[in-house]
Amino acid sequence: MFTCTGYAAAGADTALAPFTFQRRDPGPTDVAIDILYCGVCHSDLHTVRGEWGNTLYPSVPGHEIVGRVTAVGSAVTRFRVGDVAAVGCMVDSCRTCPSCREGLEQYCDNGFVGTYNGPDRKSGGHTFGGYADAIVVDHDFVLKVPETLDLAAAAPLLCAGITTWSPLRHWKAGPGKKVGIVGLGGLGHMGVKLAHALGAHVVLFTTSKSKVADGKRLGADEVVLSTDPEAMKAHAESFDLIVDAVAADHDIDAYLGLVKRDGTLVQVGAPEKPLSVGAFSVIWKRRSFAGSLIGGIAETQEMLDFCGTHGITSDIEIIPIQRIEEAYARMLKSDVKYRFVIDMASLKAA
Ligand code: NAP
Ligand code: ZN
Ligand code: ZN
Repeated sequence: MFTCTGYAAAGADTALAPFTFQRRDPGPTDVAIDILYCGVCHSDLHTVRGEWGNTLYPSVPGHEIVGRVTAVGSAVTRFRVGDVAAVGCMVDSCRTCPSCREGLEQYCDNGFVGTYNGPDRKSGGHTFGGYADAIVVDHDFVLKVPETLDLAAAAPLLCAGITTWSPLRHWKAGPGKKVGIVGLGGLGHMGVKLAHALGAHVVLFTTSKSKVADGKRLGADEVVLSTDPEAMKAHAESFDLIVDAVAADHDIDAYLGLVKRDGTLVQVGAPEKPLSVGAFSVIWKRRSFAGSLIGGIAETQEMLDFCGTHGITSDIEIIPIQRIEEAYARMLKSDVKYRFVIDMASLKAA
């Protein structure tokens, strides 16, 4: 074992604070990574505040990790010391169930191991995430970042990117398809960029007037203020697919009414309280209300490579880790442009 430093929440009502903990020494199939950057996902905030009711404390969040390899196990061939490497939302799964064998580790029948707040099957206890100076991860769950991408701006691809990419691909967003993205936060802004790059006609729904111009700059063909009933009505029964990335309680039926026959509204945002869906919202027009969880490892690499080819990264604000609570407070006010990324050098400076 070796000692790591990071930031952790001791409980749901406690601010994140410096925290020292142990990680396993790299085994034969492990990659040890010094973390350079870690994105700040709203799931980090839901987790540390205990909003999903399953948080194990102390909680070290962070699952949008980019860093440099410092050691590799004897069986590791894809990574060498000095390489850039990335880790997303999962660090392990059973690898034998039908979902794992299909490359859908996020739906592992035996439960995948989350990068944080998961059962640490190798060292015991629970996993600690990327708000830390280093991490050790099995090579099968370590990803390659295309060399052309800015490393800090690539970090959010590891969750915000893959979580929007996976449903866009599964429901075949592309030329001739009208795709809605709800909420211009971390996930939403990646959804807009990726759906645009896939060739779909993209409509962004936002509650923030201040984000209308940005929505277009990021790739939306149209931007609708969801607080304007007339603007919403103009899109009635017209979407093939809507990806809802809102982190708080909101009216799902208002968006289902915009989906055309046999179309789908996919929920990726995971608010604390249950969402309600009117039966007639789905009966009418044979609509589907679906969900989607992050994405598999191969699919994550596919998304990273696509972003490399198309020069896509996240629009970020870099912060020192000491300002994480301020970042969370802004996130709760929908005031993020459009992802905070922690520069982990700030941890050493402290
Ligand atoms: P975020 O950056 O905070 O963005 C959320 C956006 O939702 C806000 O910027 C805002 O956009 C909109 N919004 C916030 N409150 C709202 C309200 N009361 N009514 C309507 N719109 C509201 O969060 P994120 O990191 O993108 O994450 C979004 C959600 O996805 C979170 O719940 C997170 O836990 C979840 N998530 C799910 C998965 C998965 O696998 N399914 C993976 C990662 C994250 P506007 O200002 O444009 O309205
Ligand atoms: Zn996330
Ligand atoms: Zn499995």
